[in-house]
Amino acid sequence: MSHSFDDALSEAAAPAPGEPPYLKGLNPEQRDAVLSADGPVLVLAGAGTGKTRVLTTRLGHLLYSRRAYPGQILAVTFTNKAAREMKERIGLLIGGVVEGMQWLGTFHSIGARMLRRHAELAGLKSNFTILDADDQLRLIKQVVTAANLDEKRHPPRQLAALIDRWKNRGWLPADVPNGEAYGYAAGKGAQLYAAYQQRLQELNAADFGDLLLGTIKVLRENPDVLEDYRRRFVYILVDEYQDTNTAQHQWLKLLAAPRHNICCVGDDDQSIYGWRGAEVDNILSFERDYPGAKIIRLERNYRSTPEILNAASGLIRENKSRHGKTLRTDAESGSPVTVLSVWDAEEEARQVADELEAMMKRGERLASAAILVRASHQMREFEERFVAVGLPYRVIGGPRFYERQEIRDALAYLRVVYQPDDDLAFERIVNKPKRGIGDKAVQDIQITARKMGVSLSQAARRLADSDEMSGKARTQLKLLMDNFDRWRANIAAMSHIDLATAILEESGYIEMWQADKSVEAEGRLENLKELIRSMDGFENLGGFLEHVSLVMEVEQNETGDKVSIMTLHGAKGLEFDTVFLPGWEEGLFPSQRSMDENGLAGLEEERRLAYVGITRGKKRVQISYAANRRTHGLWQSAIPSRFVSELPVAAIEIKEGGSGSFQQRGAFAENRWSTGDFSSSYDSPGWRRAQTNAQSGGVRQRGPVIEVTAQVINSADDSHGGFSVGDTVVHAKFGQGRVVHADGNKLTVRFQTAGEKKVVAAFLQHA
Ligand code: ATP
Ligand code: MG
Repeated sequence: MSHSFDDALSEAAAPAPGEPPYLKGLNPEQRDAVLSADGPVLVLAGAGTGKTRVLTTRLGHLLYSRRAYPGQILAVTFTNKAAREMKERIGLLIGGVVEGMQWLGTFHSIGARMLRRHAELAGLKSNFTILDADDQLRLIKQVVTAANLDEKRHPPRQLAALIDRWKNRGWLPADVPNGEAYGYAAGKGAQLYAAYQQRLQELNAADFGDLLLGTIKVLRENPDVLEDYRRRFVYILVDEYQDTNTAQHQWLKLLAAPRHNICCVGDDDQSIYGWRGAEVDNILSFERDYPGAKIIRLERNYRSTPEILNAASGLIRENKSRHGKTLRTDAESGSPVTVLSVWDAEEEARQVADELEAMMKRGERLASAAILVRASHQMREFEERFVAVGLPYRVIGGPRFYERQEIRDALAYLRVVYQPDDDLAFERIVNKPKRGIGDKAVQDIQITARKMGVSLSQAARRLADSDEMSGKARTQLKLLMDNFDRWRANIAAMSHIDLATAILEESGYIEMWQADKSVEAEGRLENLKELIRSMDGFENLGGFLEHVSLVMEVEQNETGDKVSIMTLHGAKGLEFDTVFLPGWEEGLFPSQRSMDENGLAGLEEERRLAYVGITRGKKRVQISYAANRRTHGLWQSAIPSRFVSELPVAAIEIKEGGSGSFQQRGAFAENRWSTGDFSSSYDSPGWRRAQTNAQSGGVRQRGPVIEVTAQVINSADDSHGGFSVGDTVVHAKFGQGRVVHADGNKLTVRFQTAGEKKVVAAFLQHA
């Protein structure tokens, strides 16, 4: 049943004796936030306290109480999916489907809508093209070339990243301070930015940053247009306000004046987009932006069990730069957050798949569970396992592993080596990385192939050996074809893993991404390493490629009961009964890159991400870490994330991995922790293969043989983790102390300087 807005109003307004039904069930603070319609309101509250619910109800209330028509409300959500959900919920709240919420959407979608309406004022036509990241980069390259700059010394991606940053800050070319412009080609940055904008205009195109920045410019330069919008938007609502950047903040301020009927909701502890220009200060300075603002705090969490909440609160308390807040729940006590240690990522995936199967047996829906990873390359291991056992899954917010651009490219190389006549694969990589085999040369190859009735590879070989093609294209093509011959000749002699590594390196493909300064490049390199790693389980190249083609064929059916796999960043605002948080290892999570680039601020953003992850769970959360992870082509002994040790002992339960698999616990883990030795490989002293690998069909041995000579505590044998009351122990953070109480893995230790603490056996060492 679809209603027009007026239908909805008349229907809703008629049978309303007393209080509207949507207010029922709200707590007093939530109700206050919904009913304080006029003036600036900020709801600053922790996860799961009903901020989004308040925002939705408020929107419904504004409509129901006839304060505004749907077209008079500007409502900003974080994703398009959230916008759709909000529309549906409002429909439910006030009856029927409300139409005409044309200003409900993401910053980008609303910005695009506005810019199209006033395109001519921004020097564009209303049908302008919105460039994606690839097109944007191509254009920036042209600009760099046109300025006679050396692309090697001044990578265009670097300029692209800078321009993004400037746009996030709301800077037009003229606004870029000199110091900033120095970040690229000795001060030419701002000039090139101007040239790029000029090119965009000539092409009748805008990039994502322009959708907002362009609109801001139009609003500033055209008071009548601004006035029109200010009159139109009687109310403004914004979700996830902590992740707005400066441009978005300026845009909101422009539109909200002078009425200031703006309601923003957010949580400074969930600010996770600093790396993309989000300014958590926007939320903390709300009162300064909107004097007289009403600040409402919600403290009751409706989402999670007390255990989940305690774990999350305890963790986030470690952040120094935050405004502390209280969170409580009236929910019944549930199971503790489990912390599971496993041997490697394969065991991690197997264990999660087993849990999911057990859930299904209990009659729970797969869709009520999610796996939230820090880095997208972690997804592959899960995908493989789920495909192997036939467990339906969906990857949210990104292509599945084998569908990613860099993976497809790498596979194309392998396919051409294995099957020279694979034309599709050949076409895909013949000039990737760019090696001077341009469109014309590719066309020549195609024509030759057609004429001779042979494959592209054969035609290319022919052209490279003849004089029909000349110049750089011919030299390069010959080089490439010689490479392919050489790689092919090595199929039998080399292991398929070494061969694949050599191909990706010698072809220049890896180098291409290494030179790439974009945000995604690092992730792509990780994915490529993950691809190589995944070849380990196969006998040869043919077996591997066969497997991949089968995995890729698993049809992607979007409906049905499926477990979700997504990144932590993508999970913001969502909730699931069961949440799996794999890969809690130093370097992976917190990400080494964030810490290297942003120091303490980077670490704290990672911790907020961990907080977001835990607080997605309603009933069960399982955190896991592997003792070994293969990164950079090497097996690394991983150590548990510091975040694991920051979880309050009372809220968690330490669990073993698969039966008999090696447990990384106790002394040596702590040793490495305290010495900061996070990167020791299998070759380090103290690491040889764990002899506890008694599992039938258990952990496959991969990489060099290792053995753990440090004390391995199997808590199945000794439930106190090898410690008894009276033992003298050492803890990396608290120093030396004596065990005064032991309850399973949880010990109470009286430390000499730190006093009495509850700690987990895994973090202790005998003195
Ligand atoms: P996040 O910070 O993760 O975005 P949030 O503060 O936006 O969380 P919501 O998603 O709005 O929280 O609410 C969390 C859960 O609690 C939802 O399932 C919501 O329906 C429920 N909830 C919120 N308020 C109430 C209430 N007063 N009574 C019952 N359930 C509620
Ligand atoms: Mg929310």
